[in-house]
Amino acid sequence: MAPRPRCGTGVVRVVVTGGAGFIGANLVRRLLDEGHEVVVVDDLSTGRLANLDAVAGRIERHEASVLDAPALDAALAGAAAVVHLAARPSVPRSIDDPVATHRANVDGTLAVLEAARRAGPDAPHLVVASSSSVYGANPALPKHEDLVARPLSPYAASKLAAEAYALAYAHSYALDVLVLRFFNVFGPLQPADHAYAAVVPAFVDAALAGRPVTVHGDGTQTRDFTYVDTVTAVLADAVTRRVADPAPVNLAFGTRTDLLTVLERLEALLGHPIVREHTAPRAGDVPHSVADASRLRALFPDVEPVDLEAGLAATVEWFRSGAAAPS
Ligand code: NAD
Repeated sequence: MAPRPRCGTGVVRVVVTGGAGFIGANLVRRLLDEGHEVVVVDDLSTGRLANLDAVAGRIERHEASVLDAPALDAALAGAAAVVHLAARPSVPRSIDDPVATHRANVDGTLAVLEAARRAGPDAPHLVVASSSSVYGANPALPKHEDLVARPLSPYAASKLAAEAYALAYAHSYALDVLVLRFFNVFGPLQPADHAYAAVVPAFVDAALAGRPVTVHGDGTQTRDFTYVDTVTAVLADAVTRRVADPAPVNLAFGTRTDLLTVLERLEALLGHPIVREHTAPRAGDVPHSVADASRLRALFPDVEPVDLEAGLAATVEWFRSGAAAPS
């Protein structure tokens, strides 16, 4: 086997676990655009094959769980990097079925780490998706990576366990690992058509259909919304430069927006008022979340975030194009 490029700006074979999902399918497009060879491992549990229709002939696809060791070994053969996004996302889903969340998110990450360890000296660079939900009940703002993590949901606990394993494997087996704590990511390909939909697609979908939007709580809860292209820019840069770090890194740029402001921005974009229906706050949700972005900016000085308005406009455009599955 030819030696793999380990650094610099060379084109490499990149495995994207969860590549049929929202962030994964956006990342696959970017990596292909940058000339990389892309391999997707996805069991289609929450992702959609249709997300990859546009790139079907340009990728190697393994319809398999990351818990399937032979399938994972086949996918990782010759890979210079793995971006591990496969997970059972969502706080409410984890509250409904915590064991399934643990299997996908913790056992699944361990399986990816083991596959990398089996590769020995040829181990790929690993970029692992964690979540801002790990900060949970810690009220400090902004969220700095050195804060004590206090998960409030099985999902958050699973992400904390996964990132702990990833960093422990990096130390124990000299693997190049980067753990990124994603905040609220939004953009094209994010589904609105299920009970666990994230807030931005749920709002956009309802508003475009002329339905009232459901706001859990009073809507003053704040989030660090990150447009998906910003996330994929960081991931692609991490892969290209083989960025690793012994500590977790927030992936958000420190912008704090409450849900009512998101609705106002959407009203401005759509040109009509949006009716709100307020319900009880959701179990496991945190009231406020904003990232300390200093570690991210130091590691990725060339990545400029897409601002909220531009990201929302592109998201609305995508929903209007009819590409989203009808809710
Ligand atoms: P998604 O559900 O669209 O993508 C997850 C993908 O993983 C899906 O395609 C799913 O089919 C696949 N998958 C699940 N279990 C698998 C398994 N055992 N084997 C193989 N594939 C499996 O979700 P997303 O929003 O794109 O999230 C991607 C990653 O980012 C996840 O790790 C998630 O926890 C993390 N994250 C996302 C956000 C966000 O705002 N979207 C925030 C924080 C963290």
